[in-house]
This record gives sequence, structure tokens and C-alpha cells, in this order.
Amino acid sequence: MKLQFVGVGAAIKTKYHGASAVVDDHILVDAPPACNMLLKKYDLTIDTVFITHLHGDHLVGLPFWLLERYVEGIDRDVHIYGPPGLEKKIRDYFAVTFTDMDIVRYPILGQTYFHSVVPGETLDLGDVHVTPVEGQHAITSYGYIFTTDHASIYFSGDTELCPSVLSAIDQAGCVVFEGTKKEGKLDTHTTLEELIPIIRSYPDKEFYITHRQDYSTDDITENNIHFPEEGDVFNIRTNRP
Ligand SMILES: [Zn+2]
Repeated sequence: MKLQFVGVGAAIKTKYHGASAVVDDHILVDAPPACNMLLKKYDLTIDTVFITHLHGDHLVGLPFWLLERYVEGIDRDVHIYGPPGLEKKIRDYFAVTFTDMDIVRYPILGQTYFHSVVPGETLDLGDVHVTPVEGQHAITSYGYIFTTDHASIYFSGDTELCPSVLSAIDQAGCVVFEGTKKEGKLDTHTTLEELIPIIRSYPDKEFYITHRQDYSTDDITENNIHFPEEGDVFNIRTNRP
């Protein structure tokens, strides 16, 4: 599986664009504000989107991406998966912020299909299978395990460490986890300090830390921790350690 980071930042106190990644050049995980611009920058054509939760820093890139698809007359279906309420959020966003556009009269959401996911219910997308994992956040928040015959990647979304999340870390071949802050403990999020003992307990599993505020990682010496930058690409080959 190919994993490309198109942003690695938290919502605030960061120098990066919001956390977002693309699997196998066509599946987008989360849509932060700059994602429409960044998908073009990295020449990524998306047909499938997974949204982890309905906070703005994971979501508000979608209306602009959908609007541009409509204006450009792109004639391709897109499937968008996420927590219940996602379609209403997108329609409300258009209603509130583009008051001159009637999205019923202008089919901005034509060829756009929304699907609510259920934790534990695996979706079959051809070569890739996707299992939602419920996290522990301020609102309903799902991570996703993407699995092929050759590899698997768990995306945590925004979450504290909790039993379902620890089980997903255990199952997946590699892990993309949020590390919002470096030290201490954060309600609804995870810090690097909390993650490092877990990462040490899986020395053969690779961890990619995203959703980062602005902190130095120069003193982190574990070989299996990566701090990707925008645009970085990794080839993931491990199903199990
Ligand atoms: Zn959030």
C-alpha cells in the first residue's frame, strides 16, 4: 500500500497544514481546510473519502473540493464515508457559507454518495478492506484500519488511548497516530509522552505521528517512530510485525 501525507498538523498551535493522508493515490483520509489545494499540488485524484469525525479541522476542506469538482464539470462518482450526520454537516456548510448557491438547483453534490460507517463493520472496496474503530474524543470519532492482501494501516483519527484503540494498534501492520502535543496528558487527544511506551512495546511496527502541534522531535531516538512532513510517501508492506 502507498501512504502519502498531505498535511500533518493539529487544528491550532501548528506550522503545518491539517492532518490528512492518501492511501494508494485515490483514498483520502480526512479533509482539512487546505486539502483541495494540496491534492492538486501532489496530483492526487480522489474517488473515495473517509472522514474520522465532524470537527472542522478534519472536514471543512470537503465543501471546497466538492465545489471545484462541480465547477470543473468532473464526471466521476465520489463516495464519502464517515460518522452519522456527515452529509447534513456538508449541506449545512453550503447553506450557511454560500447563501447564494442553491445546492438543490445546482447539483454540487451530484455524483457524491455519503455513507455512514459502523464501528467493527468492515467495508469491502475491492482490493482494500476498511474497518472503522471507535475512538475516545470530544465527539464521536472513528479511526480506520485499511487492509489489503499485503499490508494494513491503522489511522487513529483524534482520540485518547482507550481499549478499542489499543486493540487496533495491536492488529495493524503499521500505525498512523495522532500526537497532538509532545508532553503531559490531553483530554480527548494523545500526547507523544503517552504514546512512546506503547511504541517501544512494538519495536517491529512502524508508527507515523501526525496531527502535530509545533514541537521539536530532535530528541526522539526510537527507530520505529516517524514524523512525516507534508507530501512524504511511504510504501507499506507489513500486514503483521
Ligand atoms: Zn477533533
